[in-house]
Amino acid sequence: MADTAEETLTDGFHLIIDALKLNDLNTIYGVPGIPITDFGRIAQAEGIRVLSFRHEQHAGYAAAIAGYLTKKPGICLTVSAPGFLNGLTALAHATTNCFPMILMSGSSEREIVDLQQGDYEEMDQLAIAKPLCKAAFRVLHAEDIGIAIARAIRAAVSGRPGGVYLDLPAKLFGQVMNADAGAKSLVKVIDPAPRQLPAAEAVSRAIDLLKTAKRPLIILGKGAAYAQADAEITAFVEKSGIPYLPMSMAKGLLPDTHPQSAGPARSLVLEEADVVVMIGARLNWLLSHGKGKSWGEPGSKQFIQIDIEPREMDSNVEIKAPVVGDIGSCVSALLEAMADDWPTPPSDWTDAINAKKETNLARMAPKLQNNNVPMDYHGALGALRTIIKQRPEVILVNEGANTLDFARSIIDMYQPRKRLDVGTWGVMGIGMGQAIGAAVETGKPVLAIEGDSAFGFSGMEIETICRYNLPVCVVVFNNNGIYRGTDVNPTGGSDVAPTVFVKDSRYDKMMEAFGGVGVYATSPDDVARAVNDALDSGKPTLINAVIDENAGTESGRIGNLNPQSVVGKK
Ligand code: ADP
Ligand code: MG
Repeated sequence: MADTAEETLTDGFHLIIDALKLNDLNTIYGVPGIPITDFGRIAQAEGIRVLSFRHEQHAGYAAAIAGYLTKKPGICLTVSAPGFLNGLTALAHATTNCFPMILMSGSSEREIVDLQQGDYEEMDQLAIAKPLCKAAFRVLHAEDIGIAIARAIRAAVSGRPGGVYLDLPAKLFGQVMNADAGAKSLVKVIDPAPRQLPAAEAVSRAIDLLKTAKRPLIILGKGAAYAQADAEITAFVEKSGIPYLPMSMAKGLLPDTHPQSAGPARSLVLEEADVVVMIGARLNWLLSHGKGKSWGEPGSKQFIQIDIEPREMDSNVEIKAPVVGDIGSCVSALLEAMADDWPTPPSDWTDAINAKKETNLARMAPKLQNNNVPMDYHGALGALRTIIKQRPEVILVNEGANTLDFARSIIDMYQPRKRLDVGTWGVMGIGMGQAIGAAVETGKPVLAIEGDSAFGFSGMEIETICRYNLPVCVVVFNNNGIYRGTDVNPTGGSDVAPTVFVKDSRYDKMMEAFGGVGVYATSPDDVARAVNDALDSGKPTLINAVIDENAGTESGRIGNLNPQSVVGKK
């Protein structure tokens, strides 16, 4: 604030900061530069935590996961054009995953941009952002900042959450106005994500259908984890006695060791269930669109779906009983409508599931205990599985191909919102951004289990981890390449195959370069020891876990999505 002879003034910089603070948005993830450098400085001076990254995409992934973990929009701040575009990937990712996030980007002068006269970093950012987010706004006048931030918050968190873009032209920051008028122009958003109660008839329709089920199944998605209706969901699952399947990021909403978990009998329950209750999960590619071979006989299923987004219903298959509303309210309503003597599902169904679970778990157990050198996925992940069992509060970040697929099925989770991964797109590159966002927002230790290829997308952010001294332990599953390290160039030329990296890379030395702890690990015992040390000390650590380069399959479990040529292969 500045004083003139007559009045006290404020400006765009301070109004944006005051508006964020008024709405309890106290952390910014970003990369400084023109025109937002001073904004970051002032924000820090005013008590906002400003975390600078090495690349905007990772700041964006941190903001997106902050939104998922807190139900408040994560804030990402970038410079204009190239910085904005780097952040945009994360904004689109947030929107696709239903995570609330606000991307605030500085932009160049409207008059010049619109006449395409070649301004510094000229780009019509608002138009470009629009199709990739829930809402996009530009603020031209300092007196509109309060309203703009209020609209951005509401758009991000209400209904189906998602990404919002806020365009902040350079000139806005320096605009001055009377400080009192400025303070009055700010909006504290009341009830930004209002409860949405389901209609009574939707609830009774769902209950009537559920009563007819002989082989019922509940599928929990990351929307259910996001909703933070943990007690209601647990009560519903347990009162109904229905087996449930957690989607990847819903693992731990109930402990994976829960007797009703059908995780280890996934194929069986998908194929044979007759009534499926979807809670905050979409019938997209991750569930084979609710049809096809994995879903058994065509027409053998009826769906109840709980979702806040009405248009999600019938997206892929007919939904017999749509229940539209927020998950907490919908699940509570179902619970209330269930009679106290609600019958448990037929025992031939639950017995079949339990038998399958036991067989699958027994088959897996010895593989997880191997201490082979070089390590395979099962040996290394078996060690990490034990650590998460002993330290259920640790947040697990996971990406890669085989590293993702194996870790998802091998590592049991025990608490809600502890497993963060590649999400709806199956995107590689979320690793360090999510690890930083999770550590900052929760103060809990983070274990990031990364394929060597996946790690490469965000690897430079380990400097950020060291700079802020975050309790992040990264384990790089190093098998010398993408999927495997064994491909050869069929021409015999000097270039290696496109999926191959430098052999025996020492990712651990990268961490040492920034003052963190680097560990070279060749056995599951080595890995376990190093991870335990890292989690005890809280020191930034990177463990280079040497995995057999022959282990792993093409594209992990989604090889069917990677087209293979049948002609002309050498
Ligand atoms: P998964 O990948 O785990 O299956 P998805 O991201 O596909 O999960 O689905 C999440 C669903 O949850 C989305 O359809 C979204 O609209 C919904 N959702 C998110 N938050 C809520 C909420 N609070 N109440 C109801 N539905 C929600
Ligand atoms: Mg690899």
